[in-house]
Amino acid sequence: MTILAIENLHVEFSTPFGAVYAIRGIDFTLAKGDILGLVGETGCGKSVTGRSIMRLLDDNARITGGRIVFEDVDLLRLTDADMHDIRGNRIAMIFQDPATALNPLFTIGEQIMDVLRAHQSNGHGGLKVRAMRLLADVGLPDPAQMMNVYPHQLSGGQQQRAMIALSLAADPDVIIADEPTTALDVTIQAQILDLLRKLQRERAISVLLITHDLGIVAETCQQVVVLYAGRVVEKGAVEAIFASPQHPYTRGLLAALPRPGSRGSDLQVIAGTVPSGLERIAGCAFAPRCDYVMDICRRQQPALSFINSAHVSACYLHEMPKDD
Ligand code: SF4
Repeated sequence: MTILAIENLHVEFSTPFGAVYAIRGIDFTLAKGDILGLVGETGCGKSVTGRSIMRLLDDNARITGGRIVFEDVDLLRLTDADMHDIRGNRIAMIFQDPATALNPLFTIGEQIMDVLRAHQSNGHGGLKVRAMRLLADVGLPDPAQMMNVYPHQLSGGQQQRAMIALSLAADPDVIIADEPTTALDVTIQAQILDLLRKLQRERAISVLLITHDLGIVAETCQQVVVLYAGRVVEKGAVEAIFASPQHPYTRGLLAALPRPGSRGSDLQVIAGTVPSGLERIAGCAFAPRCDYVMDICRRQQPALSFINSAHVSACYLHEMPKDD
């Protein structure tokens, strides 16, 4: 069952250099209780998508088309007051850098109790117990002591756990996790991903996991959407896409992953860079970097076509006759 649907979303930013097209018509759905990975390089539109869902875009951004449907309600049509009720309560966000997302002036306990107070009517004692339970749920040691510490007294991994506790305080249905492990070392990264999986299992929370790392997607997600230059180039079930990636960009991202035993050898890279959002792109946005580019690729944007029922991709190569 779909809990969140993004339909033909377009987002632009006005800048002194002209309009920047950050999202150029994307569609995907998040199923209830699933973890969906939104993947791509920096500048592909992942975080803008997350912030569009939360309606937390910068002042110079404009959603110029499409719908964001949460449980049959188009979030883009809600009043600010109604959206305020959804944000945090029903859809929460975990930000990339917990050190800046947490308020340095208040203890972790005060920050969690503030959220709880805004969403329920328990007395102070009840709030404190519930805040400590949340800290325990996210694996922070000695919750009673954790209640009284300030963010700067925590390690990066502990700050991210506290941030997750904060996002859980209102018992949301959906969590948008924007690169939640980028600032962490690999051991702590694995622990935080374990925690997200546990929360998904135990609380049936749906998670939109924004990441540039397909390795994280393979370990954590059921579904994946690959974005390139503000467009969806491939999407579907994780097993289907990892078993048989179809789009040259997805294949390039997978080839760029470090492999066991590759220590000391050069990592593969995708030559070139993501096109500027200032460009209007007539054909396939990946054409300047693609080893398989054909004339039609530069003229006309390829539509998403079915590889199978669990997998679609936007590339003219699928239409070419296959070698026997
Ligand atoms: Fe490459 Fe053409 Fe496919 Fe784009 S449509 S990824 S340029 S082959």
